[in-house]
Amino acid sequence: MSEQTTEKAHLFLSLREASLALCFDFRHYEPQLLLFCELIRLMSDGNTLFRREADKNGLWISQPGRRKMRWIEGSELIEYMCEAVSSEDLSPDMLAAICARVFRTRATPAEHPDTGEAGIRIDTGMESFRCRQCGQCCRNLDYRDALTEEDVKRLKALGRNGILDRVGKFKSQEGKPIYRIWMKPGKLELEEACPFLTKVPTENRWSCRIHDVKPTICRQYPVSRKHANMTGCPGFDNKK
Ligand code: SF4
Ligand code: SF4
Repeated sequence: MSEQTTEKAHLFLSLREASLALCFDFRHYEPQLLLFCELIRLMSDGNTLFRREADKNGLWISQPGRRKMRWIEGSELIEYMCEAVSSEDLSPDMLAAICARVFRTRATPAEHPDTGEAGIRIDTGMESFRCRQCGQCCRNLDYRDALTEEDVKRLKALGRNGILDRVGKFKSQEGKPIYRIWMKPGKLELEEACPFLTKVPTENRWSCRIHDVKPTICRQYPVSRKHANMTGCPGFDNKK
C-alpha cells in the first residue's frame, strides 16, 4: 500500500541501466509473448522469423541468417530476450523505442543533465498515481521474502521489536539471509494476511498500522503504471 499521491514524473537511465531495467521487467513476469514478438520484429527489422503456438508459453524463433526455427520457452525465452536488449549494438533510439513498449510509457534518448552521459529519459507516469487504500496489494500479492536487510537494520535502530517479532530469518541456498514476513510471533508459521492491515470502520478502505516504518517493498509499490496494471492496483484508474 503506497498511500502517496505524487512521485517523480520522469527519470534518467544510462544505456546500461536501461538494459538492466528491461531485463528486470522481463524476469518479473511470465514470458510476455505479444510484447516479445513486437520487440523481435522491431529489433531485427523483420529479419528474424518467429511463430507462436496456441496456449504455449514460448515461441519458434529463427536463428540469425537461417530460416530453421528453434522452440524457446519459459525462462529460456526470457533470458533470450534479456540478451537481445543488452546488446551493445542497440542504438539509443532503438533502446528508447524498446523501453517505450516495455514500460508502456514515453521514452526518449537523452543526455544526463550533469554529466552528458547518453541514456534514456523515461516518463514514469507516477504523478497521476493515487493510492485508493483498497488493500489489494497487501492482501493478494506475494511479498513474503521481500523484506531487505536495510529494512531490518532500520527497524532495529528504531526499536520496533513488535514488528521484528514477526520477521523470520532463513538462509537461501547460496547462504544469503532471507527475511520472511509476516510470521506468527514465536512460531515458524506465516500469518495468512498482513497483521498490520486494518479495515477502516464504516469506510470502504484499508489502512496500514505501521505506515511510518513499513517495509521498502510496501513503500515502493507500485513502481510504474505497468506494474500497477499487471498486479491489479487501481491507483492509476482516473474514473474511481
Ligand atoms: S493496490 Fe494500489 S491503490 Fe490499492 S492499496 Fe495497494 S497501492 Fe493503494
Ligand atoms: S505492512 Fe502490511 S498493511 Fe502495511 S503496507 Fe505492507 S502489507 Fe500493507
